[in-house]
Amino acid sequence: MKILVINAGSSSLKYQLIDMETEAVLAKGACERIGIPGSKLTHKVSGKEDFVKETPIPEHKVAVELVMEALIDADHGVIKSTDEIDAVGHRVLHGGTVYCDSIVVNEDVKRIIREYFDLGPLHNPANLTGIEACEAAMPGKANVAVFDTAFGMAMPEKAYTYAIPHEYLEKYSIRRYGFHGTSHNFVSHEAIQFGALGDNAKVIVCHLGNGASISASIGGKCVDTSMGLTPLEGLIMGSRSGDIDPAVAQYICNKEGKDINEVLNIFNKQSGILGMSGGISTDFRDVQKAADEGNHLAKVALDAFAYRVAKYIGAYTAAMNGVDAIVFTAGVGENDARMRGQIMEYMGYLGAAIDEDINKASRGKEAVISTADSKVKVMVIPTNEELMIARDTANLTANL
Ligand code: ADP
Repeated sequence: MKILVINAGSSSLKYQLIDMETEAVLAKGACERIGIPGSKLTHKVSGKEDFVKETPIPEHKVAVELVMEALIDADHGVIKSTDEIDAVGHRVLHGGTVYCDSIVVNEDVKRIIREYFDLGPLHNPANLTGIEACEAAMPGKANVAVFDTAFGMAMPEKAYTYAIPHEYLEKYSIRRYGFHGTSHNFVSHEAIQFGALGDNAKVIVCHLGNGASISASIGGKCVDTSMGLTPLEGLIMGSRSGDIDPAVAQYICNKEGKDINEVLNIFNKQSGILGMSGGISTDFRDVQKAADEGNHLAKVALDAFAYRVAKYIGAYTAAMNGVDAIVFTAGVGENDARMRGQIMEYMGYLGAAIDEDINKASRGKEAVISTADSKVKVMVIPTNEELMIARDTANLTANL
């Protein structure tokens, strides 16, 4: 069985073709600058040179057609005909309160994705465009929507309800949803398997990348997660503030004569380690380098980042009345041994300890980095959202 995975953005469309027997990626690539001059397709097949086609891509339907052409091309293709693609899985940001699982797309599903344009204004319209482009390019082929919010839908009411007047939940569905759900779902289940943790394991997944979030789950079912109505809540991120007193927004508005949209833009795009370090970078490597060279603000930014993660781990341990495994994933979590070490320095009270040599040697591959006598297993598990989307798509379409 072969599954095509599509992640459609407003001006881009990323794809992977995955063979489900081996879970190997047969080909992957991206169409960039859709609807903008200078658009191109980059198509990658392992062991071959990248194929790049610079051509106008006025809309997503054309992008999907280009992907189909590349996949069946005599030179750089990996299949003979698009008939070999069994189904298509789509990353969709927001399923609102309706979807707590992936689902085969029909007109109702498209209507709901459209209804939640307000909650995912940058992503949901593009995600729907990607689905419609695939329907047009491959009529009759099953499409599956995999929602980034689905994992967080298992949160209990006490975890997802904001302490604001109840009418806003009723009228506008204002509540905590959580994002990076596909990653938290994948990594928590992989951790249970790889760490032989047992079916009801209490797992904390730290997804630390440019966007960062943390989840608590029991047996792979979400108990709490740090992002909220939008991805702004929770951890300090590359350029997002994470948790902040909302009165700060009002204060900046009054002092600087800005409106709330401008200030929210600052909290999303100019804050986090970028803002705290005085504008050095959203990239942890750059901020780390500056800190090593003696830059005080860079050091404070990284210290605050680690401190916030440690506080959430403490909170989530309390929420679950214990923790069996702490798992690191995403760009920083998979690669930055120093940051993992800095966070784990706070975990003495849990009896959790990492082996520094194993920690240093573990980059981008599954590993247990805790000591043999650590009371909590500490792991690195690389995330793979595309594979999770492909697995859900295969499961839902196997008997269609
Ligand atoms: P996103 O998907 O949210 O854009 P990623 O999970 O790809 O983020 O993570 C990207 C970030 O990971 C980069 O901004 C960089 O800061 C960080 N990163 C990648 N490799 C390393 C490394 N070796 N050391 C420290 N940070 C790293």
